Amino acid sequence: MSRFLDARYQALQAYTPGEQPRDMVYIKLNTNESPYPPAPSVVEAITAGEVELLRLYSDPTGKELKEKLAQLYGVQPDMVFLSNGSDEVLNFAFMAFGGDGVTFPDITYGFYEVFGDLYRIPYEKIPLKEDFSIDHTDFCGKEKMVVIANPNAPTGLSLPLGQVERIVASNPDHLVLVDEAYVDFGGESFLPLIGKYDNLLITRTFSKSRCLAGGRLGYAFGNPEIIADLEKIKFSTNPYNLDRLTLRLGVATVEAEDYYREACEKIQKTRAWTTAQLESLGFQVLPSLTNFVFAKTDKMDGKALYLALKQRGILVRHFTNPRICQFNRITIGTLEQMQALIAAIQEILEGNHEKL
Ligand SMILES: *Cc1c(COP(=O)(O)O)cnc(C)c1O
Repeated sequence: MSRFLDARYQALQAYTPGEQPRDMVYIKLNTNESPYPPAPSVVEAITAGEVELLRLYSDPTGKELKEKLAQLYGVQPDMVFLSNGSDEVLNFAFMAFGGDGVTFPDITYGFYEVFGDLYRIPYEKIPLKEDFSIDHTDFCGKEKMVVIANPNAPTGLSLPLGQVERIVASNPDHLVLVDEAYVDFGGESFLPLIGKYDNLLITRTFSKSRCLAGGRLGYAFGNPEIIADLEKIKFSTNPYNLDRLTLRLGVATVEAEDYYREACEKIQKTRAWTTAQLESLGFQVLPSLTNFVFAKTDKMDGKALYLALKQRGILVRHFTNPRICQFNRITIGTLEQMQALIAAIQEILEGNHEKL
């Protein structure tokens, strides 16, 4: 730390992204990326001509992509916000709407807490129930901003729409942010109810279901006033938050919707296969509606399993929080990758048994 850093940030604990080691080629099941490449038409969208156009600034309004998304999801373009990954719209939302404080579950996406710290917003972490589900009544009538990931991460569990609606309806004077980063893997979106509530912001990302984590493209739906507030923050920080290539990739991605639906279906099938395999090995697997599973076994410590898999070239995500440190979060890859995972776990558990 230099002696110039503002006192406000000296104790800030930054977000820790999942590890991206370069020492060998891993089967990467630790950051919920898609195992599939973008659609061929998306790959072809970046031509030499597009690269040459980089001498010009990108469209700060993102008009074309907003219109495409609006059409796909049946909303007006002024209800759509575009961001540099959905992390950026989360950042803006905490900045813009978190003044009275924020509340979110104790076990959820780690970035919410970092934004709370960054903006010195008082936040309340409400414990998940014993079974790791969210008790929606805990989030009703809060008199502060509410942030819920639905489905939640890293648990993979989903809240029924009726319960999300009760949270939104019971907090009419504060924003309720529903983070739908994983909604395309079998979850139910709150989007159809967007016209009914003026205190709702739904955030989404191209990182998981749209195979574009490295492209950094997020989006959000809200009523036009909320979106205008977010635009004001954006134009006050970085008007060109999306570069030309990413905008181009975004448009081509929306045009290839069928390809991504199919990819998501494949992942759901592989998720079912993986869950059954893990269960047959004695794991407890939380019922997931995402592109990952959260699993633990009584036969082996969670961290020890993570390390043993890493040694065998398979990366999963382990969290040190005592409530979940026996679990590992495992991204659903291709079927071949998951077969390799299951074989490795079998081998590890057998070796472990011999030692006992
Ligand atoms: C991955 C993730 C995000 C952010 O993804 P971006 O890559 O920044 O779009 C947001 N929320 C949750 C719950 C996530 O898991």
